[in-house]
Amino acid sequence: SWLRGAAIQRVFEALQTDGGEVRAVGGAVRNALLGEPIRDVDMCTTALPQQVMERAEAAGLKAVPTGIDHGTVTVISSGEPFEVTTLREDVETFGRHAVVRFGRDWAHDAARRDFTMNALYCSADGTIHDPLGGLEDCLARRVRFIGRAEDRIREDYLRILRFFRFHATYGAGPTDDEGLLASVRLRDGLSQLSAERIGAEMKKILAVKTCPPVIAVMEGTGILPLLTGGVARLASLAALKSLSDELPEAGSPILALACLTGFAGEDAGRIARRWRLSNQERDTMFRAIEGSVALLLASRPAAVLKAQMMAWGRETACDALVLAHARARSAGRGETGFAGLHELARSWDIPVFPVTGHDLITAGVPKGPALGSAMERLRSLWAASDYRAAREELLAALSGE
Ligand code: ATP
Ligand code: MG
Repeated sequence: SWLRGAAIQRVFEALQTDGGEVRAVGGAVRNALLGEPIRDVDMCTTALPQQVMERAEAAGLKAVPTGIDHGTVTVISSGEPFEVTTLREDVETFGRHAVVRFGRDWAHDAARRDFTMNALYCSADGTIHDPLGGLEDCLARRVRFIGRAEDRIREDYLRILRFFRFHATYGAGPTDDEGLLASVRLRDGLSQLSAERIGAEMKKILAVKTCPPVIAVMEGTGILPLLTGGVARLASLAALKSLSDELPEAGSPILALACLTGFAGEDAGRIARRWRLSNQERDTMFRAIEGSVALLLASRPAAVLKAQMMAWGRETACDALVLAHARARSAGRGETGFAGLHELARSWDIPVFPVTGHDLITAGVPKGPALGSAMERLRSLWAASDYRAAREELLAALSGE
């Protein structure tokens, strides 16, 4: 059905002229075969990049030379981007820095890819092309390196992390022992990767709901400590596991990271810097950790939540509850009550706080610290009234003090 869409068919039609052949490749084909959701479609063609540009434009499609040096043109069809890459083959193999040239041989193109399940091609009519025998592995959800795992890892150490990510996502099948052993043996090579690539890939792994067993293997084999600089501890894996078991937000990489760093602000900060998180990601993590601590320390979490909801906002409140829940569960608490509060927070309709700073000044509160603390008091009064107290009531309370 993904193939029958008008957008993708227009790309096929546009490029399949003059004997040029076009096939979808990689994640889309793999996910279609496995019945998993398809995010974006990468395509491969025998046509040269310049021809791709010309043919797409001749068919009325927008074409952007997004990576023209390595043969990639992004073709936009019905607003959807398709990355179209000319077949490549390595002249000499130096991994990502390989000298490549454009080719016409599908098997050569396949051999440059990482795993057999990622080297499947699909024509416009749905025919699957399987130059390396990846179909069987794919259907068995077996993540297997193309060629000798050690050689392939030495070409690009990121493949160690991709091995674990695909394992977390699809690896219900048998583990590729050769791949795992090679990953462990060559783990020191991870230090050659840039922080950006490590951070981006780790976020992708942590975004997988079923990542905890894989993270545990990464921890046990010494790979995770190399990546975190020794921050993540086994104890925090328990929280990660309960995060993924219990709540729908398990797919959140930032919350997963918060679990992994053991909810310690200092370690979270270190990882955030090390993995080049954006300021927004870092703040989201800190707010969730701080909120969860407040909820866990409270004798009446519901009251804390209610009082804080306004200041935190719904998103932070939900994050904090999810984390508090995961943490309480991993510490052995059965019924934490946080899951129920989470439902509540999600459906809580917080009205807009009815009093403004201007109201307070008009009511005679002097500008400066007094204004802030008066505002704080009114906010708690308002929360205590279940957000029902009207502006006049609140202002009256002010003068009554
Ligand atoms: P998804 O996009 O769902 O995460 P994907 O398989 O499409 O999965 P991408 O990172 O988009 O992954 O890469 C597209 C394809 O390019 C892969 O399927 C694989 O064939 C190839 N590829 C990507 N990165 C590498 C790499 N580091 N080494 C070898 N081949 C790679
Ligand atoms: Mg992809």
